[in-house]
Amino acid sequence: GFKMGIVGLPNVGKSTLFNALTRTAAAQAANFPFCTIEPNVGEVNVPDARLDTLAAIAGSRQIIPTRMTFVDIAGLVKGASKGEGLGNQFLANIRETDAIAHVLRCFEDDDVTHVEGRVSPVADAETIETELMLADLESVEKRRAGLVRKLKGNDKDAAQQDRLLAAAQAALEEGKPARTVQVDAEDLRAWKLLQLLTGKPVLYVCNVSEADAATGNAHSAAVAEMAAAQGNSHVIISAQIEEEISQLEDDEAEMFLSEMGLEEPGLDRLIRAGYDLLHLETYFTVGPKEARAWTIRQGTSAPQAAGVIHGDFEKGFIRAETIAYDDFVACKGESGAKEAGKMRAEGKAYTVKDGDVLHFLFNT
Ligand code: GDP
Repeated sequence: GFKMGIVGLPNVGKSTLFNALTRTAAAQAANFPFCTIEPNVGEVNVPDARLDTLAAIAGSRQIIPTRMTFVDIAGLVKGASKGEGLGNQFLANIRETDAIAHVLRCFEDDDVTHVEGRVSPVADAETIETELMLADLESVEKRRAGLVRKLKGNDKDAAQQDRLLAAAQAALEEGKPARTVQVDAEDLRAWKLLQLLTGKPVLYVCNVSEADAATGNAHSAAVAEMAAAQGNSHVIISAQIEEEISQLEDDEAEMFLSEMGLEEPGLDRLIRAGYDLLHLETYFTVGPKEARAWTIRQGTSAPQAAGVIHGDFEKGFIRAETIAYDDFVACKGESGAKEAGKMRAEGKAYTVKDGDVLHFLFNT
């Protein structure tokens, strides 16, 4: 599955947000009890109204949403790259994530200490980014030194790694994060394996007070401007509201939200933003037993998509009977879609599209 690391300075609302995310009714929904893998790791359901629609049409007995993993990564402070705070151990936690949700304090509250003594989310973002860049620079230099012997032996993989590391080093030495490096398609895999902290996509989470949840405030506006300049995205959330909502039943939560002038929980927006950030999309498998959503990266082939369900499905892939979501709904289900000629037999070369309802045929 896909993993999002929640980072930020102490006291910005990371734990509040993480708890809300993982305790919410949606996270604990029916079939999959909420599971805490570790105290700071939680899996949440990805909200998707299409799944409920499909299940209603097919009369599915179970609804199984797709999941995203969140990791609360505490301990990022000024000096973290030098081993202060939790140091290296927690940097390793960040390395293993696919993307970073960077929580920024955009609320004023004299009762909650700010580690730098003032509320300034843009400066906070720079503090954290600087630590991550320093950590990256150190690891890049170490790894390049470790490649020297292999390079003399004309090792091709080592040459590729060194070329990518050199590009990252050049950016970092200019004070730019590794994600600003232009990477060719054929280098993408090797680039990802470098697991550079500042190479990961970033989503800024502006934690505002309850009163500012619907509109944002001057702090979140400053973050929005910074994010746009960097080509990153941002969401405005009140972690405290989210925590309150997470303890309410669905209908109560809806009333509470509308009183606040909000259309949906911020967590839904956060998860969707994470999906966009990671270029993820969803396909469905639908039958009387269950309707289920599966997560893939954009551009995934039909056999690779089958492999998300089970490795054997990918190995023995024959074809995918495919119905677009809109067709499935308009034709009121599989048999209607079949009659209307809307069910396509797609082969190995097919690129799965968001919302496809798939049925895989495979050799065992
Ligand atoms: P972390 O250190 O980043 O995990 O921060 P916490 O989630 O533990 O929050 C630190 C403190 O700030 C706690 O006392 C929270 O109740 C409080 N807090 C979190 N979000 C908000 C907010 O939006 N407004 C206010 N006033 N306090 C908040």
